[in-house]
Amino acid sequence: MSADRAYFDWNASAPLRPDAREAMAGAMGVIGNPSSIHAEGRRARDLVETAREQVAALVGASPAEVVFTSGATEANAWALAGWDTIFLSGIEHDSVQAPARNAGARLIDIPAGLDGVARHDALAPQVSDGDALGRALVTLQMANNETGVLQPVADAVSLAREHGLSVHTDATQAAGRVPIDFTGLGVDLLSLSSHKLGGPKGTGALVVRDGVTIAPLIAGGGQARRRRAGTENVAAIAGFGAAAAAALRDLEHITDLAARRDVVERGLTDVAPECFVIGQSSPRLANTMCIAWPGKSAEALVIKLDLMGIAVSAGSACSSGKVGSSHVLEAMGLSGEVAKSAIRVSLGLTTSDRDIQRLLAAWLAVRGPRSVGSDRCNTGRADKVQPRVERIPEGV
Ligand code: PMP
Repeated sequence: MSADRAYFDWNASAPLRPDAREAMAGAMGVIGNPSSIHAEGRRARDLVETAREQVAALVGASPAEVVFTSGATEANAWALAGWDTIFLSGIEHDSVQAPARNAGARLIDIPAGLDGVARHDALAPQVSDGDALGRALVTLQMANNETGVLQPVADAVSLAREHGLSVHTDATQAAGRVPIDFTGLGVDLLSLSSHKLGGPKGTGALVVRDGVTIAPLIAGGGQARRRRAGTENVAAIAGFGAAAAAALRDLEHITDLAARRDVVERGLTDVAPECFVIGQSSPRLANTMCIAWPGKSAEALVIKLDLMGIAVSAGSACSSGKVGSSHVLEAMGLSGEVAKSAIRVSLGLTTSDRDIQRLLAAWLAVRGPRSVGSDRCNTGRADKVQPRVERIPEGV
């Protein structure tokens, strides 16, 4: 990471892990096509199959269930194709929403609450008439990319099973950040992205439960047992596999990350007590916080922090490149004003004390000096007279 920058946008893309870099560099020298039967081809095939095992191990699936794609966007588009009815929530990523809308399927909303959790129980009355739904899919992300809030996928699976519905989960943000047991969970389809867990961009996977048939999104050659045609991106897949193996090893350190995330949250809200963390009381990813600063524009905050060497994102920025109001926060029922003022700060295991110090110092600079008594909350927490933080304590 560049010494003059502090990177807090791991949910948009995580830095490439050294293991992934090394695996990719090695794979670049492999000239064969993995479908060729000669030695060069077999070497390439070995790399792909090793990566398949590594990715399967990360999510508790069997290797044959892992189909490599160009990323989670493709995996989601594939998973969402061909259904008569799709149950989905407004908090899903655009790469789920758009194919669901374009599929021509009947869409049934899974409402989300202010806590950021999708109310799978609201589905019960809707699913009772299974026959009228045709081929029906419930799609529910494992963790939200903006708030980090974990979703009740296991409960949705129980409900869906009772009524004969299939289940897809977009595990893009959860993989490598919470343990995943694909087989135990019982979902039919699970999407993954390599670059969110320290692998290269432009590769990912759809994990397809053994016995589930799904029409290929890309037809052509016989690769991936005719499920996804096209010569595999061997170097990227090798990097994805190495990143998945490293992420699995690192899972044991995830609680340390939650402690650091909490330090950052406390620091930011001490500096500007009108700020509040969205979804703070819900089970969340250890690395993610979504913080609203009422009265400020998220867009301006992202730009100001960037000029001070800090990378964060506003809710909708990671998917669109432009900053607007977040559809996720609006789907949770937060006001447009709050949604437009919220930024996402996401950390990783190499986030340093110095990075955190820098972020807090920048936050203080954005806030500017305040006179005594001027820093009462204005967000429904006005009973609290806030401490004045004029400098960032050492050793955060
Ligand atoms: N789903 C979620 C929840 C995401 O956060 C993202 C990336 N922003 C995607 C899907 C798309 O992943 P990819 O970049 O691999 O296409």
